[in-house]
Amino acid sequence: MIDKSKIKTVFVDVDDTVWWFTENSKLSLRHVYDHFGLSRWEPSYEVFRDVYLTKNHELWQLYHHGEITKDFLLAERFRYTLSQIGVSEGVEALAKEIDDEYLRFLALQRIVVPGAREMLEYLSSRYRVHVLSNGFKGVQDRKLISAGIRHLVDKIIISDDCGITKPQRGIFDYALEQCHAQAETTVMIGDNADADIAGAHNAGWHTIYFNLRGTENCPVADAEVDNLADVMRIL
Ligand SMILES: [Mg+2]
Repeated sequence: MIDKSKIKTVFVDVDDTVWWFTENSKLSLRHVYDHFGLSRWEPSYEVFRDVYLTKNHELWQLYHHGEITKDFLLAERFRYTLSQIGVSEGVEALAKEIDDEYLRFLALQRIVVPGAREMLEYLSSRYRVHVLSNGFKGVQDRKLISAGIRHLVDKIIISDDCGITKPQRGIFDYALEQCHAQAETTVMIGDNADADIAGAHNAGWHTIYFNLRGTENCPVADAEVDNLADVMRIL
């Protein structure tokens, strides 16, 4: 249970918590498949997509835990995908071009998670609301601007700024310091049970797990919702 009278600060994750990464990235992936004529190598968009999504997920897990760098993640996800669909020449250069275009197009997308705008409007009128994200500097800011929700959050704290990623303790302490907040009066809302919730819990914060995908429960979360409207009942 969270005693909302004791809460002053709320941190929200970006991707798949307020900005609907899953939907926006589908548009962006389809865009680069068409834009770069990748059907020359793989006639099935779905095959291309699934190879990419699997590899990207795997790389993000490693990145969250500090096992690979951001540069490696960005270079590798399309390099691997291209090599799997049979591109044999100039793979690295093409992968870089695709990744740049993918990120550029992605940051322009504006689909928000259902209820995200209303939740941020509600929270920002009652608490200090900031973003805490493992996404990339510049990109996260542009996503929120594209979706018209940037004005509903105050500071944007990104792992790039401190060189530490969620779920590591350091980024949570860094966020409190940057926002002049205290762990006991702070709540983290996020869709990643490990990076957002276990990480914040270990730093002594309160937590609300947004179980967007309806997967297994998160045992350390103080509260769990499958709909952002329910956050307004808790806070
Ligand atoms: Mg997320």
